[in-house]
Amino acid sequence: MNYRKPTWAKKVPPEKIRRLYEQDAKGIYDEELADDVGISLYARVDSMIMVTSSNLGHPLCIECRTEIPNSWQKGFISVCPNCGWTTDIFEYRATYKGQTLNGVGALPDLKEFAAKYPTAKTYAEKMRMIDFLIHSFHGSLSEMPSRPTATNVIEGSAGDVAKFIFDLAYGEGSTVASEELDKWLEKFNRSISKNIDPSTGRLKEGKEYLYDGIGKNADKKRNKNEGE
Ligand SMILES: [Zn+2]
Repeated sequence: MNYRKPTWAKKVPPEKIRRLYEQDAKGIYDEELADDVGISLYARVDSMIMVTSSNLGHPLCIECRTEIPNSWQKGFISVCPNCGWTTDIFEYRATYKGQTLNGVGALPDLKEFAAKYPTAKTYAEKMRMIDFLIHSFHGSLSEMPSRPTATNVIEGSAGDVAKFIFDLAYGEGSTVASEELDKWLEKFNRSISKNIDPSTGRLKEGKEYLYDGIGKNADKKRNKNEGE
C-alpha cells in the first residue's frame, strides 16, 4: 500500500503582508487579503507545531494527528495506532529538514495562534492575530530571546525579515498598534539577532552574525551572487 508522504506549508511572501498593512493603515480593510494571509500563516504554524513535536520525540500522524511510535534507530517503520498510516521514521524526519520549521522556542505563541486564529471572525480580530504572530519571538520571555518567529513564517533572510517588520506601515486607519513594533525592537536588540540593523536589513558595521542561521547562509549566497 502506498501511503501519502508528509508535505509542509511554505512561508508566506512578504509582499502580501506588506500590502495588507499598507491598506490597513489607510483604513482600507481588505477582508479577502486578511483571510489569504491569515490562512497561509495558519497552515505554516500548523506545520511548525507538527515538526516541533517530532523534534521533541513525539511525531504525529499526518492523516489523523495521533502520536506515532518514535525511534532514533535507522529503518524503523512507524505505524499509526489509530488509522494505520505508515512511514519510515527517518524518511519522515527528512521531509522537513532545512525548512526552518522548528519552533521549539516559540511553541507557546504558535499554539496560541493556532487555537485562536480559527475563532477570529471579524477583519480586526484576524488582523490582531496576524500582528501577534509576526511580532512574536523565540524565547520571548527569556533575557536573551533568540530570533523573530517571522523568520519561520515569512520568506527572506533574517536581515530581510527584520527590515520587513521594521518597515510595516501604520497609520490613522490601522487596526493594530504600532507599539507592537517598539516592543518587538526592544526584544530584537536583546536577541541573538541584535547585530543586524533592522532599518537596513544588513549587519551593523564591524559586527558578525551571532548564530549560524538562515540569515547567514542566505547572505553568503546573496553576496556571492552580487559578486562581493
Ligand atoms: Zn493516523
